[in-house]
Amino acid sequence: SQQPVLLDVKGLDVAYGKAEVVHGVDLTIHRGEFVVLLGRNGAGKTTTLAASTGLIPKRGGRISLADRDVTNATPREIVAAGAVHVLEGHRVFTSLSVEDNLLIGTYARASGGDRSKLERVYSLFPEMAQKRHDHASRLSGGQQQILAVAQGIIGEPQLLILDEPSSGLAPVVIDRILQVARQLADEGVAILLVEQLVEKALNVADHCYLMATGEIAAQGSPDDIRAGDTLNRVFLGGH
Ligand code: ATP
Repeated sequence: SQQPVLLDVKGLDVAYGKAEVVHGVDLTIHRGEFVVLLGRNGAGKTTTLAASTGLIPKRGGRISLADRDVTNATPREIVAAGAVHVLEGHRVFTSLSVEDNLLIGTYARASGGDRSKLERVYSLFPEMAQKRHDHASRLSGGQQQILAVAQGIIGEPQLLILDEPSSGLAPVVIDRILQVARQLADEGVAILLVEQLVEKALNVADHCYLMATGEIAAQGSPDDIRAGDTLNRVFLGGH
């Protein structure tokens, strides 16, 4: 990619007690790049994301974001530096309206409570505009997941991290979320996506990392990753 580096993870090590689950992970994301992180259950994808955004402690490694060293930054400082992390299974506040849920997403940034950001999100997600005054409890599970993504976007991050946004959703909703993520990347927002749906993810991403047993087993363009036996090796092979 010709764009400058936005997120640079170098030599990341993470352990839960004595169990080392991430070893020496290097991962680079350029501005506006759509990167997907694939791998079997338990490979260490969620752990890599959480350690990168300060949610869990690291045993080693360095992380920079937008040319700042954020190795020891808190999650709040990471958000302020431009990276929003939508957690796996993230739930919205069902007792609040759709719009109030979106406004919560602006408080994490300097733009706290800024209503002017709403219109951009509504143009990306017309289905949320229609329901802006409804309680989030009235949304389907899929619509609530779209709202969670919209809540992440409204703070206008430079990097949006999505951990399995498709989990438990109907195919049409999954396609919608991936399509919006692709649109954001085309507008210059870098995306880091963890996804179990390999083919859907490869269809939208610019670059792919494959993780196996806590390490990066392969990386390349979606075409590189589809070619050869890399996917079979990582998903079916002896790891
Ligand atoms: P999945 O797709 O199932 O979420 P993953 O690739 O995201 O998998 P992680 O959730 O990062 O993998 O888990 C990596 C390893 O760390 C697994 O062996 C898991 O059992 C272990 N692990 C995850 N969270 C904890 C924790 N809080 N305490 C102890 N071990 C954990």
